[in-house]
Amino acid sequence: MTALWGVGNDRAAQLARLGIHTIEDLLLHRPRRYEDRRRFCPISQLTTEAAALARGTVVALGLKRFRRGAKSVFELILDDGSGRLHCRWWNLPFMENYFAVGDEVVVFGKLSGLKPRTMDHPESEVVEGDAERFVHVDRLTPIYPLTEGLSQRWLRGLIWRTLERFAGQIPEPWPPGQPAAPGLPTRPQAVRWLHFPGEQAEAELARRRLALDEFVALQVRLQARRRRFERHAQALPCGGEQNRLIKPFLARLGFQLTEAQTRVLREIRADLAASPPMRRLLQGDVGSGKTVVAACAALMALESGYSVALMAPTEVLAEQHHLTFRRWFEPLGVRVELRTGSRKTAGVDATTLPLANGAKLPALIIGTHALLTERFDIPRLGLVIIDEQHKFGVAQREALVRKGRYPHLLVMTATPIPRTLGLTLYGDLDLSVIDTLPGGRGRLQTFVRTPASLPRVWAFVRQQLAAGRQAYVVYPRVEETDAGAVKAVMRERDAVQAAVAPFRVGLLHGRLAARHKEAVMAAFRANSVQVLLATSLVEVGLDVPNATVMLIENAEQFGLSQLHQLRGRIGRGAADAYCILVAGSLTPEARARLQVLAETQDGFRIAEADLRLRGPGELLGRAQSGLPRFRFGDLAEDLDLIQQARALATQIVAADMPAPRPSGPASEWSNKSG
Ligand code: ADP
Ligand code: MG
Repeated sequence: MTALWGVGNDRAAQLARLGIHTIEDLLLHRPRRYEDRRRFCPISQLTTEAAALARGTVVALGLKRFRRGAKSVFELILDDGSGRLHCRWWNLPFMENYFAVGDEVVVFGKLSGLKPRTMDHPESEVVEGDAERFVHVDRLTPIYPLTEGLSQRWLRGLIWRTLERFAGQIPEPWPPGQPAAPGLPTRPQAVRWLHFPGEQAEAELARRRLALDEFVALQVRLQARRRRFERHAQALPCGGEQNRLIKPFLARLGFQLTEAQTRVLREIRADLAASPPMRRLLQGDVGSGKTVVAACAALMALESGYSVALMAPTEVLAEQHHLTFRRWFEPLGVRVELRTGSRKTAGVDATTLPLANGAKLPALIIGTHALLTERFDIPRLGLVIIDEQHKFGVAQREALVRKGRYPHLLVMTATPIPRTLGLTLYGDLDLSVIDTLPGGRGRLQTFVRTPASLPRVWAFVRQQLAAGRQAYVVYPRVEETDAGAVKAVMRERDAVQAAVAPFRVGLLHGRLAARHKEAVMAAFRANSVQVLLATSLVEVGLDVPNATVMLIENAEQFGLSQLHQLRGRIGRGAADAYCILVAGSLTPEARARLQVLAETQDGFRIAEADLRLRGPGELLGRAQSGLPRFRFGDLAEDLDLIQQARALATQIVAADMPAPRPSGPASEWSNKSG
């Protein structure tokens, strides 16, 4: 326990609001930016375009209150010899208490008016001629996130003093002898530079070093867990038996596996044959053919005499898998069952489903995540496959795996998760990648259009339908929310029907009963309905190769990865395919964003763009709970650090070293006033 000078109860409470509870927290409190207080912009050269730093002496100040309401404006005038600057703060009368004529004040902002030169609500700080002046000016000065009642000066002073006292005690997070990070400062150095860098470059080096430590800590946790798991868990031998089922399966499939699919299957087979349970992530862009790979993996386990569970994120997708796998597996004599929340095969109660007739015959069980919550056990469960993993939270993945006696686990994702995220979220999984699409497909083109061109778009859609093709039409929401702003499937149905007559329109959205969804999908598959009008429910997994048009309205409301997924519904057959993104009021940024899709079909590039634009939370959806927060790490930028961290963690875990503690002295705040 260390009492820090100047921290009493009130201060401690304020710091706590910033998440600062320990000295370590304080030393890792990251500046939001740095101000170069070695160079100031003359007041006469301030502009309305760019924020700049200026300094001057207060020559006048005053608070003006207006009669009506509680409105007020506090104004002060700074002079630096080159000109005068009026600084105004609206409705913050207490600002009056902070300044006096003659004070030297630093302000940061851009002009809101030129005559006179005015800044509204600049960031400001009085420079006092006290002993700590060198902490605050004539250097690159850190500007911290604050909370009410705390001033930059006070917090900066506290951090300075704390560094002086404790910086020497900050341990390197990994044991001596470990190769540190080449090109990066030591941890104590990084903590100093984080707050008081000599140059901007040192601040970035400090951030990178501290980010690396965060990534190492996470990777060590993931890898250590994996290692413990491998020591204790034993899987069933599911490597297959002389291709007894796979051979006839492939013979009847109608196409050859691609090289990428074959390579991935070799990796999977090696895992399934080994004793530690497989933990593998299969990544492959939309349409790369993950389902067939899942089928072959399932057959390996089935050949070995063990059952397989296949889970999909939506009932619609589970239904589709059910149809596909029955078509594929039943001729081989393999039983395929569907268990979803709303339907169980042939009315059998899944909780008690015995594998009675057929005695110990292994089966493929397909379901949604309802499989997770239902209390049934699948006897001799050898392999669990999770399709579209990004829709499952990490916690769900763990829950599922604990159910059986350590079945092998294969998780498949089409969301081209940027590698940074993949390595972070799935650092405990081995990775297989299908990096090429099957050949023999038509060209897929993407266009960005405004509503003004809708008549021509519909004419084009009718032309495709007349040529025997089918189309998806997607709207963001089920019901209209912002009156008129968001077109909604329910209300658009008649309009769409009129636009494509005499072709038939089916409606698919999340509020439909499962029975209805099934019926609509069946009609669309059979081409008795030519246009599927849907919410983003069709995003995941659907496979109707005859559909060649994807028309998305209000496209600006979707994330890029989601649009890429939607687009992945088409271009699955030999015919050319067309994705048309219709977007209403488009800002230049929104247009540029959609243009990314028109320019590339590389899901990884798209996901990276998405990650930059929207951040990891949005990209993965709210359900994704397992993503840790990083103070310094940046998932959009730090791929090299994450890879380095992974390698370092492997060494640390292999050497059985104690887990690194990226921490300084972890004393609590003293609540005694200093
Ligand atoms: P995803 O990876 O998005 O799940 P799917 O497994 O649904 O992709 O496959 C997309 C389409 O490509 C399906 O119609 C599937 O039958 C077909 N397909 C898969 N592998 C091949 C292949 N090697 N050659 C030709 N078509 C293939
Ligand atoms: Mg799929």
